[in-house]
Amino acid sequence: KLTAEGLQKALLQTADQIEQQKDELTDLDREIGDGDHGINMSRGFQAVKKELQNKESFEDLGELSKLVGMTLIKTVGGASGPLFGTVFVKFAAKWNGKDAVEGDELYNGFKEAVDGIAARGKSQAGQKTMLDVWVPFTEALKSDEPLETVIEKALGDTKELKATKGRASYFGDASKGVQDPGALSSSFLLRQFAEVLN
Ligand code: ADP
Ligand code: MG
Ligand code: MG
Repeated sequence: KLTAEGLQKALLQTADQIEQQKDELTDLDREIGDGDHGINMSRGFQAVKKELQNKESFEDLGELSKLVGMTLIKTVGGASGPLFGTVFVKFAAKWNGKDAVEGDELYNGFKEAVDGIAARGKSQAGQKTMLDVWVPFTEALKSDEPLETVIEKALGDTKELKATKGRASYFGDASKGVQDPGALSSSFLLRQFAEVLN
């Protein structure tokens, strides 16, 4: 079950982990991008943290998700900003007025979010992007597989792929064997979701 409180907790933990691994994200993006992913994500999640700390409590998952989505879109920038922002804007649309979601309702919110990334990015799983982690995670919500295991496997699988979308695609075969920075940052967020869903 995902509650508004659980979502807030997951976001605050993610913000802290991004600070701790900001340089790692940026280094990966230096290898197969333009070297700003850690900086972009840090700016966005520190802004989210500030918004959360400025507010005592949230009406529901919809209100919280909308604020997070808007904040990320305004502050992250790059290719990843609108994509991470879309996730929360879609959550907000699906979970408007709800204090907690589980089962199909939980899955449908993630499904909508993943479809939103794919539509905005004109991308799909298998192209070595964040979708390579978001898609298996979402499908795993329907299975009994431990979510942490699914995230680890997804990260390992996408690492070996050749990038065919986003800036990393300019690196061609040289992108093989390098972890996609957006897949790694997505894993931080999704591990926190897994944690609060347990
Ligand atoms: P930029 O590439 O504009 O500098 P970032 O460095 O913040 O943006 O984010 C790069 C990450 O965004 C990549 O590692 C990848 O995971 C993700 N990404 C980029 N383009 C796409 C796309 N079209 N679809 C899905 N994810 C994408
Ligand atoms: Mg970049
Ligand atoms: Mg950039």
